[in-house]
Amino acid sequence: MTEIICPYCGSSIITSFPEKFQPCASCGYSSAQIESSSGNYLIIDSQLPDLMKVYDHLSRKMGRMILIDRRVSYRDVAGADRRS
Ligand SMILES: [Zn+2]
Repeated sequence: MTEIICPYCGSSIITSFPEKFQPCASCGYSSAQIESSSGNYLIIDSQLPDLMKVYDHLSRKMGRMILIDRRVSYRDVAGADRRS
């Protein structure tokens, strides 16, 4: 298990799969954190209010690539939610 920090509310999220897009138990918005050889990415929830403000804020604060999830439905089984 890994602890990640919710980028929106700062709560800790304990997960086995930080790279899987999943909702925070505190604020309900989803995020995922991808660490790969091509860089580190934070994927944020397209349902967030003030999405572009959050995007700006997080990209300044975290210094990593921010991607906005555009999938309408993302509650797939583990491993099956990768876009190709
Ligand atoms: Zn949260």
